[in-house]
Amino acid sequence: MYYYNNLVSTIVLTQLATEYKVPKFVFSSSATVYGDNESPFVETMALRKTTNPYGETKAMSERILTDAAAANKELNVTLLRYFNPVGAHESGLIGELPQGIPNNLMPYITQTAKGKREKLFVFGNDYDTEDGTGVRDYIHVVDLAKGHVKALENTVNQVNIYNLGSGKGTSVLQLVQAFEKENNIKIPYEITERRSGDIATSYADASKAKKELGWETELTVFDMVKDSWNFEKNLK
Ligand code: UDP
Repeated sequence: MYYYNNLVSTIVLTQLATEYKVPKFVFSSSATVYGDNESPFVETMALRKTTNPYGETKAMSERILTDAAAANKELNVTLLRYFNPVGAHESGLIGELPQGIPNNLMPYITQTAKGKREKLFVFGNDYDTEDGTGVRDYIHVVDLAKGHVKALENTVNQVNIYNLGSGKGTSVLQLVQAFEKENNIKIPYEITERRSGDIATSYADASKAKKELGWETELTVFDMVKDSWNFEKNLK
């Protein structure tokens, strides 16, 4: 399903972008293309074997777009490697509403806070991290959106790669604690098995986007947990 959805759409859009002479293609890539490299992930790192099919489709899509740019000098490509987007617009009008049981951590936390889920399952506490739980670089969706505007405004090379992350790692339990503190709600949780395909630690070296795009994250983990909860609690 991942291969069909992500690769067919990338190929079709690349063909259409060429046919209609689209000058600039901004691709939503993912930090998962770094595979099991050591954090902080830097854009110059050689990509290592990805740990899941989703990541593989992102690495393949980057390659397809890079080849398309090599074949067509009129096409500029910017590959944005997202770290972990969370949060919502502060108005509470736009946010994350996954179908069914959430796969991702933040919507699982907010649904647990709301009583829609009984408790959070923490996937492993025996990783080589500060508290044993997985470490990720969470980025507020509003900062991420601003990164796209900066990427559209600046074309440094014909093919550009940028990490969109904060450069800071937060563990699962640290995110839960930040949520509890900011929103004054307890999140019941249980430690369970590791989830297949997960790595211990993922965070960005965020210096290239700052230097070349003049972009860096402004919002904190506390803004993320506050805005995520504000969206969830106002849902009918
Ligand atoms: N995670 C967890 N319980 C959940 C969902 C996620 O413990 O219900 C952990 C996961 O193992 C990882 C982190 O939270 O360490 C972020 O996972 P998520 O799926 O949100 O993003 P990913 O990094 O996998 O893209």
